Amino acid sequence: MTPDVRDRTDRPASIGRLPGEGGCPIPESSWDRALRLIGQADEVALACHVNPDGDALGSMLAVAFVLRSMGKRVVASFGDRIFAVPRLLGFLPGQEMLVPPEEYPAAPDLMIVFDCSTFERVGLLGANAASAREVIVVDHHPSNTGFGTLDLIDADAAATAMLAEQLVYRLGGRLDRDIATCLYAGLVTDTGSFRYSSTTPAVHQMAARLVATGLRTDEIARELWDRSPFGYLKVLANALERVTLEGRLVWTYVSRVDRAAYGLPYSELEGIIDIVRRADEAEVAVVLKEDDHGDWQVSTRSKGTVDVAAVCAALGGGGHHNAAGYTSYETVEETMAKFRRELRRVS
Ligand code: 5GP
Ligand code: MN
Repeated sequence: MTPDVRDRTDRPASIGRLPGEGGCPIPESSWDRALRLIGQADEVALACHVNPDGDALGSMLAVAFVLRSMGKRVVASFGDRIFAVPRLLGFLPGQEMLVPPEEYPAAPDLMIVFDCSTFERVGLLGANAASAREVIVVDHHPSNTGFGTLDLIDADAAATAMLAEQLVYRLGGRLDRDIATCLYAGLVTDTGSFRYSSTTPAVHQMAARLVATGLRTDEIARELWDRSPFGYLKVLANALERVTLEGRLVWTYVSRVDRAAYGLPYSELEGIIDIVRRADEAEVAVVLKEDDHGDWQVSTRSKGTVDVAAVCAALGGGGHHNAAGYTSYETVEETMAKFRRELRRVS
């Protein structure tokens, strides 16, 4: 028998309704099927998107904890060619469950994929997913059309972590501090610390449940946003030195040569877009970040009137209306020329 969360006596009294319950586009039959598939599996292989952020890694590790406590064999990974957890996510518990892609089961019986808006975002583990018997996609990107054998997608959820929390409860798990830390990392990351319009009452209610486990939210915030190696300041200075305002577009770039001068890892660049998008004059902000392979990861943000997800989708990526991205294999100039063209087309 799969546990039914609605019958559970240990469901927190404060929970009201579970995230996504009522108005949730995920049918109960899909949740039931997910629980059945997980119930039948001895081993569950988890994955999240390449270059993982707090929502991707946090959601995956939270569910990994529960599956492990159910006695399942658990492997978790993400399909980057250079497999490393970003420094700013180093505080997340459960990393002993991570394996590099080459140690991942080639054809898992059951694979669960978190926060991946497209199959491409599964990266190197795409081959494993293609060979898996069942693939459950857990995601909140509106652009996700569903590439699993079972899709648990709620485009109204502020973070995949909201769906992961629901999965935790539905599997009969309890929030402990480790699980709550992972879920909180997802929730604060994707809501921009509860600032974005996706921050609904349900988001705050979930945060309350998580914080009630004894989380040190101050320490988590510091880990995520308030510290960097010294070299970050120099690389940021360089990026801001060449920041450009073109009408309603503000943009800059960071090359790997810029980073190499200070030994700064690629993953340290995530916050630069939040500084660049401050410019009042701009509606759209773009930061081109050259990764260690020489490819450009393009981060885009909109203040609301432009759908950057549509722009990025046309350029091979995706994301949300106000935050999206893609990978470019061309030069900075060529990349920006194509971006401007798509931006004109969409807006
Ligand atoms: P960020 O700029 O923070 O890396 O990404 C912003 C949003 O765009 C995230 O929601 C992420 O899922 C999406 N995104 C970033 N890069 C890519 C990409 O290469 N492909 C797709 N499909 N989405 C991306
Ligand atoms: Mn997310």
